[in-house]
Parts: sequence; C-alpha cells; structure tokens
Amino acid sequence: MEAWFAVLALVAIADAASISGSTHFDTIVVGLGASGTAAATELAHAGKRVLALEAQGRVGGRVNTVSLPGDSLVEMGAEWIHGQDSSVTYQLALDNNVTVLRQELNTITLRSDGGVVDAAFMEDIMNFAMPLMEEDPATPEPLGAFMTRRIKSYIKERYPSFYADEDFIQQLLVFIDLIVDSHVGSNNWNDSTTHTQYVTLGGNQEMSWHVYGYKTLFEIMMNTYKNGPGLPSLTIELNKEVTSIQWPQDSESKVVVRCKDGSEYTSDNVIVTVSVGVLKERHASLFSPALPQDKVDSINGIPLGVVDKIVLLFAEPWWPKDTFMGFVWKGEDREKVPEEDKWTTMILGANPPMSCERALTLWTCGEVAKHMETLSEEVVKAKSVELLEKFANRTIPKPVGFVRSTWYSNPYTRGSYSFDSLTSPSHPSLRPSLASPLTDSAGKPRVLFAGEATNPIHYSTVHGAVETGRREARRLLGQ
Ligand SMILES: Cc1cc2nc3c(=O)[nH]c(=O)nc-3n(C[C@H](O)[C@H](O)[C@H](O)COP(=O)(O)OP(=O)(O)OC[C@H]3O[C@@H](n4cnc5c(N)ncnc54)[C@H](O)[C@@H]3O)c2cc1C
Repeated sequence: MEAWFAVLALVAIADAASISGSTHFDTIVVGLGASGTAAATELAHAGKRVLALEAQGRVGGRVNTVSLPGDSLVEMGAEWIHGQDSSVTYQLALDNNVTVLRQELNTITLRSDGGVVDAAFMEDIMNFAMPLMEEDPATPEPLGAFMTRRIKSYIKERYPSFYADEDFIQQLLVFIDLIVDSHVGSNNWNDSTTHTQYVTLGGNQEMSWHVYGYKTLFEIMMNTYKNGPGLPSLTIELNKEVTSIQWPQDSESKVVVRCKDGSEYTSDNVIVTVSVGVLKERHASLFSPALPQDKVDSINGIPLGVVDKIVLLFAEPWWPKDTFMGFVWKGEDREKVPEEDKWTTMILGANPPMSCERALTLWTCGEVAKHMETLSEEVVKAKSVELLEKFANRTIPKPVGFVRSTWYSNPYTRGSYSFDSLTSPSHPSLRPSLASPLTDSAGKPRVLFAGEATNPIHYSTVHGAVETGRREARRLLGQ
C-alpha cells in the first residue's frame, strides 16, 4: 500500500521550504484533512504565511486513497461527492477538468441459505425506505422506530405474503438498519433522530473520483495537481502531532503551538481542524487556558460514528458486474454463527468500488466496526471470505490483496463522521457553538475551529469539511 499523500505533501514542503526559516506564522492550521487543507490553502492564496501541522505521515485525514497491488486505487475513507448542486468539491473537480462520474450499481439481495430475495420486491422496498431518512415528522423520534413502523405497514399492505414471514421481515429490518447506519454513521438506527439538520445537496449523491482517487481533491487545493508548483507561502509539516495550544487573552501576545517532538511555533492565530473525536479525548490537555464550558458541551454533545471498510482484491471479478450484494440473514443461520464471529453477521454487504473493478468493499458500522478493528488482519480477511462464500453460495478465489480501515482506533480520528443523536433536536446550537472562535480582549479571533462536525448543515461530508475550512480562512481575511 502506498501513502499517496506523503508524496504529494513532500512536493508542497519542498516548495514552501524557502519561507520556513522563521517559526512565527500568520496562521497555524492543525490537521490537514479536507477542512485544514481548505483553510490553509485559502489563506496561502491570499498571501498569508501559513504553517500546517499534520500528525500523520500523509495529507487527507478521513480521505485516504490507497493503492493496492496492480496500481488499483481504493478509498478507505470518503468514497463519493454527495450531491452536485452548490458543492464546493464537485465545483473544484469541474474547474480542473477532472471528470467525476456517477457510480451506478445494480443490487442483488442474497440470503444466508443461498437464496436470493425477489429483485422487484427489494427495489420497491428500498425506493420506499431510503427517502424516509429525509422525512421530518412533527415530533422527533428515533429514526429506527419511525422507519420500522412505516416499512412494516407498507409491506403489510402491498406484500402480505412477504409480511407473513416474520423471520424474513425481522432480518430485512436488520439489513435496512445497517444501510441507514452506514449512511448516518450511527451504531443503530435508533441512536439517530428523525429531526436532522443535515441538508442534502441536489444532484447525484454518488459521484466518484474513480481512477483519479479522492486524493486529487487535495492535489487541486494544494496546487500540486498535474505537477503544479504548490503554494509558496504554505509550509507543511507531516508527522507533527500538536500536543498544546496556548492562546492569549490579551491582544499583544502570540499563540504558541507545541508538538510531541518538542518543536514550538508561534502565530497570530490558529485554526484547529481535528475531528470531534480527537477533541473529546484531548481537549483538556490540548488547550491552555482550558476551553469554555459551552465549547466543551458541544464537543461532548456531538456524537462521532464509526464506519469501516474491508477491501478484498481479487485477480478477476467473480461477482456480477457493477453490483451491490446485500446480505439478509435467516434467523436460524445467524444463530448458528459462533459467538466470536457474530460481528460478521452485521456486515451489510459488498460492492466493487468504482476505482477498481477487481476489488470488493465490505461495509461495517458502529460497535461491530470497533470490534473488527481489534481483530488481526488474517482473521478479518478469512472471515470476510467465509461470509462472501456463504452468501454467494460458492467457493470464491483467494484474494490477492487486502486492506481494512481502522478509523476508531486511529488516535488522530477516533471515528468516521458525526451525526445527529436523539438529544440533538433539543440542542440545535451545538455545531454553531463548536464553530465559534475564541477571541482575545480586543475581540480578535485567536483560536478558530473548522472540520465537518462544525458545519451546521453539511456535517459528515467532505464538501461540508471544505466549507468550514474556507469559512474560517475567510473569517481571518475579514471577508
Ligand atoms: C469510511 C468513511 C467513509 C466516508 N464516506 C464519505 C463519502 O462518501 N462522502 C463524503 O463527503 N464524506 C465521507 N466521509 C466523511 C469525510 O471523510 C469527512 O467528513 C471529512 O473527510 C472530514 O474532514 P475534516 O477535515 O473535518 O477532518 P479530518 O479528515 O479528520 O482531518 C483532521 C486532521 O487532523 C489531524 N490531526 C488529528 N489530531 C492531530 C494533532 N494532535 N496534531 C496534528 N494533526 C492532528 C488528522 O490526522 C487529520 O488529518 C467518510 C468518512 C469515512 C471515515
């Protein structure tokens, strides 16, 4: 596996080296995911001297394009641009003549006994069920309870013979729950609310960077796409874990940022873009003086979900082309699975990513994903193959490549994306409050916050993260 972003970032570092003699900067950006890269590059374009400190050895954060044997690219983090209308990321692709493509998958719903669910029934049910996620009943309730009620009554009315099979209905609901979790980021569809503040952008929701890889977005922002020269006033330091941010309350003093390796930098202000999961774990040691209580309440109140991918690469595709294979268990088969392998029964299905037709991505969420991360790669790979064989009802070829994500155990992410919990409707200002800057006695912003979780309406996405990076850069530029 190659860390593409490490290569990219070195280009930018080399280009910025000429200005990096001093340790004082206009702005320090902590973290180079989508929001940090957007903030740093927007400021650098405006001529500001910017230092970006990234804890990992690559740029991208929760976007991670990796290369598998045979130069196939796969996305271990964000996969698609969700929506085209007014999308900052879609627009960046268009402006740079990068043709992103709509990923269109057929669906086949397989059963654990080797059967297949009637395709017309499934299509109708999914077309009914998925839009329910966007409905907003007058009284907020757990999304799962709301969807279960509506789906059951729909099936009862239209498909009485399917409805009579109680085990099937129960297992189908588990399957739809898993699909919802993978969209929302929840552990269980009853953990999230019907009253979401998320606003869906118009246009197609599954626009893929396919063979370009999502990494191209970062090349575009950093001006390194097609061997671009980078941005001269941007200095990038990788493997620089920030451990302390000392921010002044008077208008004269500087912000002091210290790293785990003992290095120290000063700036007029700092933009913090680490995930809300990292903030939950570290805010108490990271900020001096400590964050005000309303900020801490926001950090604690915004949940960060976990979605992980298991990617298997094969010499040849053995599955129907361009197809999502959904897994609906039979209750008795699920029960027979040994306790230590039960996590495999909560993998919702598998599909080829658009970037690589020889690969299959298996999706897992919540506590099951966290558990999967604790298992060895050998076990995850072997159990994934077993699962595919069970549902495909055949022996499958040995994978020639394997990679899985570990977004929860990664100390620099601690999760995948934020969502709206059951308590969110009664605390609508958590995200705006997290986004508000800490100011000094003269009212100047000294510590600013960006990142997907700070976006009040486009959280959980790359475009939402980019918007927040730009928002904070523009705040500093007085725009
Ligand atoms: C599996 C998965 C699938 C997804 N699918 C999609 C999708 O299809 N479409 C979509 O739009 N979005 C998707 N997302 C969500 C999207 O990836 C995120 O919302 C977005 O990338 C978050 O960007 P960010 O800048 O807010 O945070 P991050 O990407 O987390 O960036 C923060 C950066 O800070 C760094 N950092 C952390 N701590 C420190 C420290 N102490 N010092 C220095 N640096 C530090 C981190 O290493 C990281 O690089 C997906 C995410 C995952 C995990």
